[in-house]
Amino acid sequence: MADVCVRIAPSPTGAPHVGTAYIALFNIAYARAQGGKVILRIEDTDQTRSRRHHEDRLLSALKWLGLAWDEGPDVGGPAAPYRQSERLDQYEKYALQLVEAGHAYYSFTTPEELAAWRSRRGQGDPPPYYAERERSASQNRGRAETADSYVIRMKMPREGTGVVTDSLRGEIPFEYATIDDQIILKSDGFPTYHLAVVVDDHLMGVDNVIRGEEWISSTPKHLLLYQQLGWDPPRYTHLPLLLNPDRSKMSKRRNPTSIDYYRRAGFLPAPMLNYLALMAYPPDGEEEKFSFQQLVDRFDLGRVNLGGSVFDLDKLSWLNGRYIREDLTPEALLGEMKSWLLNDEFISGMIPLMQERMPTLGDFMPRCAFFFAREVNPSLEDLVPGKREAADAVGMLQTAVWALEELDPWSGKEIEKAVKRVADFWEWPIRDVTRPMFSAIMGQPVGPPLYESIVLLQVDMSRSRLLAAMALLGGLSKKKLKALEKKWR
Ligand code: GLU
Repeated sequence: MADVCVRIAPSPTGAPHVGTAYIALFNIAYARAQGGKVILRIEDTDQTRSRRHHEDRLLSALKWLGLAWDEGPDVGGPAAPYRQSERLDQYEKYALQLVEAGHAYYSFTTPEELAAWRSRRGQGDPPPYYAERERSASQNRGRAETADSYVIRMKMPREGTGVVTDSLRGEIPFEYATIDDQIILKSDGFPTYHLAVVVDDHLMGVDNVIRGEEWISSTPKHLLLYQQLGWDPPRYTHLPLLLNPDRSKMSKRRNPTSIDYYRRAGFLPAPMLNYLALMAYPPDGEEEKFSFQQLVDRFDLGRVNLGGSVFDLDKLSWLNGRYIREDLTPEALLGEMKSWLLNDEFISGMIPLMQERMPTLGDFMPRCAFFFAREVNPSLEDLVPGKREAADAVGMLQTAVWALEELDPWSGKEIEKAVKRVADFWEWPIRDVTRPMFSAIMGQPVGPPLYESIVLLQVDMSRSRLLAAMALLGGLSKKKLKALEKKWR
């Protein structure tokens, strides 16, 4: 039997997400338990959202956790390149092959025409089949050569049923007629996820796809592509999603989701991995503390439990505390503290901010303690500028979160511009924005300059402080959030 081959397939479109580490962990544990191999593939087909710095941060976050792969963009391998943006010729080749075989077709309908057509559709009309003429035209190659732009769509069967076989859930039936004619090649020449994932999993020899359950509804499309291309599909396993304590899908509005946040807040890699494993893998007996190696030694994919995985920060902190108490000598703990933030590199960033603001050396630590803290305690008074309503202060802080999230590069100058943008949006004097932000970020009335402090705190910790301050002020209802977002964007 061929060796097991799994892949981790993140899209570099944002901060390194704990959900990515969770899926990676299960893939790697499975592959290691089977003596198989792990491929890391970067799925950067969304040109508008993919960024190389997101990829860099993601790889270093996964490595910090101690996760390792056998092939990938950083280590190379026989199936290189491992970035989808560098494999465009492959996708085009198979898209054309599908057109020639009559399984896909060129579509020239513009997004505007589509939207108009959709809005004309009445209740009870058949599912959204696009431009019937295009679908049945034979190939249209000539028109594609001269057209300004076109896409290639899958010709989904109009009737019939199929099943997705999931190694944990068994057979999940579906009806073809409910599935749209998916785009597989976009007008920019990039493939969509569906085509790229199938082509790459096949060409890279992936025989086990272990991914989040949010992809179950995509699997029928993938199975059809495998069939049309004449390839054997992999075995599919869909893992349960990470949830917020209220059982909604884990999102950065409620819980910090960036691995970099946890690293910055002083969590250690081993308990993070241990906790992520517990999210879907029951301990053998009572003991919930186990190492990655112990997990691998007894790993059985069939034991993954589908009950839902609530990510609970208190429980993670408790587990982290156990590792600190039970697994580290005082010397090792000192080493951890040093590689965390108690090092020259980090502290030297604070020195120029403090030199003008410290009558004695003894004033440094108290004024800079917020840089090291997991949380701070801003006073309500400082969070709401005089004459303003608490509700507006919450809204303002939310817009500050959005403004900061978009920054690239992350620098004092850019942060200053973002704050100015927030002040302009609210038509407030700048100090009505900076004072609440200062308090939210530092939890104290005096300290080093705001923008440079935000630079040092990094985006994830800054966001979490602004969100904590918003919660303290009563938060924002879903409706208000939506309305505000519409105005802001
Ligand atoms: N690129 C997808 C993601 O970002 C991968 C989905 C899959 O594993 O098929 O999650």
